Amino acid sequence: MKHTTIALFVPHKGCPHQCSFCNQKSISGESRSITAADVEAAVETAKQNPYLKNAEIAFFGGSFTAIDRGYMLSLLEAAQKYIDSVKICGIRISTRPDAVDDEICGILKSHGVTAVELGAQSMSDKVLMMNKRGHTAADVESAIDLLKKYGFETGLQMMTGLYGSDKNESIVTASKIIDLKPDTVRIYPTVVMENTELADLYYKGIYRPQTVDEAAEICAELILMFESAGIRIIRVGLHSGGGVEQGRIAGAFHPAFKEICESKIYLKETESQLAAKGEYTVYVPKGALSQAIGQKKSNLIYLAGKGYSCRFKESDSLVKYQVLVKEMKYDT
Ligand code: SF4
Repeated sequence: MKHTTIALFVPHKGCPHQCSFCNQKSISGESRSITAADVEAAVETAKQNPYLKNAEIAFFGGSFTAIDRGYMLSLLEAAQKYIDSVKICGIRISTRPDAVDDEICGILKSHGVTAVELGAQSMSDKVLMMNKRGHTAADVESAIDLLKKYGFETGLQMMTGLYGSDKNESIVTASKIIDLKPDTVRIYPTVVMENTELADLYYKGIYRPQTVDEAAEICAELILMFESAGIRIIRVGLHSGGGVEQGRIAGAFHPAFKEICESKIYLKETESQLAAKGEYTVYVPKGALSQAIGQKKSNLIYLAGKGYSCRFKESDSLVKYQVLVKEMKYDT
């Protein structure tokens, strides 16, 4: 079920480590600690929307279950009293894989938390270590098992282009995540933020960030992997706003990143069906025309450069990422 999210950021709270890539203050655009009153104000504002239904109160950023216990409970209690199963159906949190145990699960469960997302980032211990994550892939596996035992909806977040990572590592990480069967995933290409260790590595020429195009090539493959495994992808690429644009030094950031990935999927599928140079009709699913044609008609222009004159059309009978190419002379 798709949920509206009332998002609240808990910046840099309770992180026992400082991951090489993270400047959570820049990412959340927020340096002040949110309070129970902030939670109440955000929910009260959201509730003024007469169409609000099935919303989740989401605590993102930081490591929610590792923050000061009293503070965490004050936020949860402020949120819990709004859960009414009509307008607001639950609470979503994100945290580190090594900040989840039986006691925490019990607290979350009794306070109306329904979904827990873990920042896995990679399933390679080498990459996790190089990026100072302070946990292992085994921590991700045991945390997911525990969360499932308690009946939470589970989510895993992974990153591409981390220091020490490459395309193969991302594919292996995605395969291992699929094996863990989370309900949802988020895919984030690495963005180099100012005042981070990764920024130092970048300035010294030790770390080369992915370009948007390189990241999109990899993420296009990951999207297809998760889609075919039936795992819901709830985000590809960092959100714009919230300080990312201002704090970003380098790396793969684009406000329409997912659309760029999807354009690559449609281009690849189209190319695989084209034969001799000529004129073609390319059928794509309803609603996918702009992705299939590409930003600024990039796919159309690319194909024309290869000698393929294509017109794109929507078809009701195709499903997401499916393409049907017909030579125009046979297309009636
Ligand atoms: S655990 Fe998360 S919030 Fe904390 S430093 Fe690492 S990436 Fe940032």
